[in-house]
Amino acid sequence: MTSTNSNSEDDPFLDNIPKQFRQRFDDSFFDECTFCHQKFGSDKGYVINKIYDDGECVYEIAYCSDCYQHLQKTFSSKSKEAMNNFFPSEEVLRKKRLPIMLTGENKCEELTSYCIKCESKKAEVLDYHEYANCESHQLMYGFYPYMICASCVLELYNLLSKETIQAYNDFMETHFGLPPDFYSKKEKKSILFI
Ligand SMILES: [Zn+2]
Ligand SMILES: [Zn+2]
Repeated sequence: MTSTNSNSEDDPFLDNIPKQFRQRFDDSFFDECTFCHQKFGSDKGYVINKIYDDGECVYEIAYCSDCYQHLQKTFSSKSKEAMNNFFPSEEVLRKKRLPIMLTGENKCEELTSYCIKCESKKAEVLDYHEYANCESHQLMYGFYPYMICASCVLELYNLLSKETIQAYNDFMETHFGLPPDFYSKKEKKSILFI
């Protein structure tokens, strides 16, 4: 696998994964699923999620498409609908984000510089989540990458059904085993890896 790819220079929807979405300790690429430890092959997409607290990355995970699907299954249909309604419509997103994707210099940085929901600026919120969709060592542009501020995450959390939260927590505990202080201190605003 090469770290540079000539495709990414022609294709506005592909980029080499920037430092922002590499592992925080050594800038290396995520190479396996945090949940099931499956290695990321060249043909399998995965999602990277980083949680920032006071401007500092406190959690980072990367999960494969299988685990993503399992995670999605923990959402009740009511919660799924609430989630879909929560995010801006595709049309709104496209209007704001497509020009950045097509012409932006620092696309990834720009697309994650504001909350996708309330449009607060990253520099002003400090507590936020970031998401990217990747394949191999490439980052793919579309709905991802995006940033969502902690208060919007909390708002979303409060829209989810009890059943969904329970199923979601069970999944997390089984596959991830978050340390206890994660639950007690940051419970509602940080727990959600979407
Ligand atoms: Zn997995
Ligand atoms: Zn927000």
